[in-house]
Amino acid sequence: SVTIGVLALQGAFREHLRALSEFEGVSALPVRTKEQLATVDALVIPGGESTTMGLVAERSGLLEELRAMTRARQKPVFATCAGLIMLAQRAQHEKTGGQPLLGGLDVVVDRNFFGTQLQSFEATMDVRLPGDEAASTCHAVFIRAPAILEVGIRVEVLATLPVDKSPRPLEKPCIVAARQGPFLVTAFHPELTADRRWHAYFVDQVRATKG
Ligand code: GLN
Repeated sequence: SVTIGVLALQGAFREHLRALSEFEGVSALPVRTKEQLATVDALVIPGGESTTMGLVAERSGLLEELRAMTRARQKPVFATCAGLIMLAQRAQHEKTGGQPLLGGLDVVVDRNFFGTQLQSFEATMDVRLPGDEAASTCHAVFIRAPAILEVGIRVEVLATLPVDKSPRPLEKPCIVAARQGPFLVTAFHPELTADRRWHAYFVDQVRATKG
């Protein structure tokens, strides 16, 4: 069995804990301290508000431990929405002085890519889940969502939002799900829909990493 932590400082951590508890052989634990972080095989970083999450992590002395973990790129991390922003190497639209990011994932994100005028939307799009032979569709919930603007060569794109599904005009489809080594990221919220394929893939990856 495997132990998967969910960073529980702020945001949609309960929904991830509930989703993970549906899997046999998985114990899902909220992580708020470095002691708890040290006990988990993998980590989920939920959606919420990345600036707040970063500040709370800094104040609770967890930021450096999280950074060490993500920069080592060894333990699997599933990061959604604000979590994706946290895991990114660089974020645009940072507030003055910047916000504390963890880094490790070779991407540049735009924190509020879809703007504040349209807070949230849903879209059905084509995705390529890792391990799947063919593309399939996925219904995704976006809440003040970021988007990935640039990816490094080691990053595999798993889903792009087509221009006709975007609430703001786009010149080209934008990247909304990706993976790199032990990292899986989505700009949308898979924990808010019943589709458990993203969590299932992550759980498989955690099992494979633990051996
Ligand atoms: N745009 C938000 C941020 O900056 C993320 C929104 C979300 O996680 N639903 O953190």
